[in-house]
Amino acid sequence: MSHQLNHSTPHHVVIIGGGFGGLYAAQKLGKAPVKVTLIDKRNFHVFQPLLYQVATGGLSPADISSPLRALLSKNKNTEVLMGEVTAIDPERQTVKLRYREIEYDSLIVATGVTHQYFGNDWEEKAPGLKTIENALEIRRRVFIAFESAEKEPNPERRKDWLTFVLVGGGPAGVELAGALAELAHGTLKEDFRNIDTSEAKIILLQSPKHILPAYSSHLSLEAQASLEKLGVTVKTGVRVTDIRGQLVTYRQGETIEQIRARTILWTAGMKASPLANILAERAEAKLDKSGKVMVEPDFNLSKYPNIFVIGDLAHYPDGEGGILPGIAPVAMQEGEYVARFIRNGLQNRPLKPFQYTDWGNLAVIGKHKAVVDMGWLQLSGFFAWFVWLFIHVFYLLEFDNKLIVMIQWAWSYFTKSKGARLITTPGQDPTIQLEDDHETVVYEGLLSIEEVASRR
Ligand SMILES: Cc1cc2nc3c(=O)[nH]c(=O)nc-3n(C[C@H](O)[C@H](O)[C@H](O)COP(=O)(O)OP(=O)(O)OC[C@H]3O[C@@H](n4cnc5c(N)ncnc54)[C@H](O)[C@@H]3O)c2cc1C
Repeated sequence: MSHQLNHSTPHHVVIIGGGFGGLYAAQKLGKAPVKVTLIDKRNFHVFQPLLYQVATGGLSPADISSPLRALLSKNKNTEVLMGEVTAIDPERQTVKLRYREIEYDSLIVATGVTHQYFGNDWEEKAPGLKTIENALEIRRRVFIAFESAEKEPNPERRKDWLTFVLVGGGPAGVELAGALAELAHGTLKEDFRNIDTSEAKIILLQSPKHILPAYSSHLSLEAQASLEKLGVTVKTGVRVTDIRGQLVTYRQGETIEQIRARTILWTAGMKASPLANILAERAEAKLDKSGKVMVEPDFNLSKYPNIFVIGDLAHYPDGEGGILPGIAPVAMQEGEYVARFIRNGLQNRPLKPFQYTDWGNLAVIGKHKAVVDMGWLQLSGFFAWFVWLFIHVFYLLEFDNKLIVMIQWAWSYFTKSKGARLITTPGQDPTIQLEDDHETVVYEGLLSIEEVASRR
């Protein structure tokens, strides 16, 4: 493999990002004759598919996170550094942390994606769900909403506190909506004295025609029916045009409508991590429309073949005119492939071209329903939920022997409890301020702009 510069002995592989892609690459390199440095701005790996459980009080952050140091402690050729990479110099083959530069022979960039608000400043008003910190912020807002509703004497304002709007009907939005509905209409039902939590409205707004657009349309419709059975209002083909105070404005065809809600959550879009721009500027990497890095068949850059980009950050053709989706199995398989590519290259051993093995898509809807789309096999309902559960628990066990998660799940399954319903952010005023221009306007449900105007 001619591109391996092999400056140092042993060959130094630097991996940026300890998510699914970076971690699987590091694990695969554990026994290779290389030195590995894995850098992440956090000291733990997060199992993102279960973030919605943390956001709704079903699991605690530690249940779905594992210290990177512990996960890689057996790999004696590997060091873990906590820090944020702010620059990459492909000519000098260095990455820059705040106080340090690190040289590499091969670089794997696996820094994933962040939220995308399409140029709007809605992040504060409608937090997304990507990190543990996001999940804790959502948990804080959700449980503050119920607490505030409990002590709110004005019925209209109480209704606002009990209205939850989710923007984005992909897997994260669907899972969050289902869990919120079960929380409000099941778990919390007996816990409050002044409010009936089952009156809470959970409204899911989705811009495409179907929720879960990556699934076959009959599974999307089944998922929608399951959500509606749980009490979620699903609105498809709608485009959110404004979020101000607790007023969400959206367009559906020619009509503009508004919903008042104290809790607005965002799962509608993702954009590439800022390191993609750095690679574009410094390494002449080409980016696609969402800012992902367009890579060569072996995940490297054409100008710098010792720089690899994998996982959510990579734009990799799927062979059918699209690109591989931003899901965990893609990142894991790419991480393993690049690790093998580097190892085999150093040993002059051949390697078969990358081929993605598609295990399908899974999304859970509430406590015991899911949809599974493997192309050749499509499942929905309880059996699909069982498949979902098995795969997620298997992964968690494989990683960190998280037996406790299994026990907790079993417990909450039978008792309907959610034990992590804590509001823990210290010193924060448990109210989200009203904006002046909306303070006196209190409406019921969904109104057209004209109706809103006539009530003013
Ligand atoms: C809410 C949610 C639910 C999901 N559900 C599913 C699901 O059910 N099934 C599924 O297959 N996929 C799911 N996904 C997608 C899946 O989690 C991602 O595809 C996967 O995490 C991508 O892996 P990655 O390694 O590319 O990036 P990530 O796992 O996002 O890891 C990126 C890492 O890079 C680190 N990092 C970022 N920038 C820097 C920097 N400058 N310096 C140092 N470190 C940095 C971050 O701290 C992070 O640890 C879900 C994602 C979310 C957000």
